[in-house]
Amino acid sequence: MDGRSYFSGALSPENLSRIASNPREIPGILGRTRREFLRDAAGLALGSSLLGASPFLHGEAVAKKRKVIVVTFGGGARDQETFAPEGQENIPNLLHELIPQSSFFTQVTNRGILGHYVATASLATGVYETLNNFSAVPPEHPTVFEYFRKDLHRPSSDAWVVAPSNGFNRIGESQYRSYGPGLGAKVILPKHLLSAATSGGATDYDHLLRDNYETPLYTPQIGGGEVELQQLENILKLSVDDFTKHARTASSPDELSLYIAKRLMQQEAPSLLWITMHDIDIAHSGAYSLYVDAIKRTDRLCAELWKAVQSEPEYAGNTTMFILPDFGRDSDEDPGGNGFQHHRTGDAVSRTTWMMAMGAGVRPGVVYDSPVQSIDLVPTLGSIMGFSAGVSQGKPIQELL
Ligand SMILES: [Zn+2]
Repeated sequence: MDGRSYFSGALSPENLSRIASNPREIPGILGRTRREFLRDAAGLALGSSLLGASPFLHGEAVAKKRKVIVVTFGGGARDQETFAPEGQENIPNLLHELIPQSSFFTQVTNRGILGHYVATASLATGVYETLNNFSAVPPEHPTVFEYFRKDLHRPSSDAWVVAPSNGFNRIGESQYRSYGPGLGAKVILPKHLLSAATSGGATDYDHLLRDNYETPLYTPQIGGGEVELQQLENILKLSVDDFTKHARTASSPDELSLYIAKRLMQQEAPSLLWITMHDIDIAHSGAYSLYVDAIKRTDRLCAELWKAVQSEPEYAGNTTMFILPDFGRDSDEDPGGNGFQHHRTGDAVSRTTWMMAMGAGVRPGVVYDSPVQSIDLVPTLGSIMGFSAGVSQGKPIQELL
């Protein structure tokens, strides 16, 4: 870490002085600054100049074929390690391949609790959930998977979550009255699969099995090893041997997750696939180089996933993919934090993140800096896929409709 401050690295002197006089402007300034980085690096247009007829095709036949993939990062990365000039070398794939195909939202605010499980649950329900981040409880409000399956009468095979940690095993469905059990997504936990497949005993896989970077002492034990092994063989059509052999080549938990996600796409072809990545959160260890390595890996894995979409007949041409962090990380300036390592201060930098949408029905190469909230994702997916997210507190993002 070179000690460069967030604001001096990322903002102009004029913007710095505006922040000093009014801290409430920080999210807007961060968004506009992000847009400038993207315009310079990827040559993107400004959204407002391109608003016109919706590129989304409507109609029943189209809706039936449409697939949506949501990729969230548990533990975001700051602009100075990504979009700012000094960070751009870490994200060549996002910057030069994916963002030019995307509608990019520079100002996505998370007003909820900054813990990964509770924040991901909030993204999935469209309500700022208040559940205990470190307990294996279901979200309180209906998830996007329940809205999708109930409204559109879809089978359980059509909605899947690939999640990083045992603590996420309840994220697929709420216990909300009239939704809940039996209507949600199936959840697959690649690490749990791996520990079931190796009976928890093989030390070769320790780097893939660590469950939580934020609180290493939190390693929730969940049952169901049998179910996991059946998922492997019956659903993914993967023998325990082939799986463990492949796992040996995976450099990180997210790489293992991507492998599982690709198998799911081939075998089940879910219309709604939600993948939560978590490697970047290794920042909590305090090792800046590991944090940057994870950003580079995540950049590569996102491009690999998009490539897989293009090569799967079920997905090519009719898939919309969303990529967004659950929230950001602390700035170097806030005395309450320790820079990139954590997200404890709740400051504007750790709350103001971004989202990209690409693929079917999305205007490519457009940057929007209108303010969006994390809870707007679910109602937006509802408008795109044709279900109603009735209990969500967000609103559909007009630029994507
Ligand atoms: Zn974290």
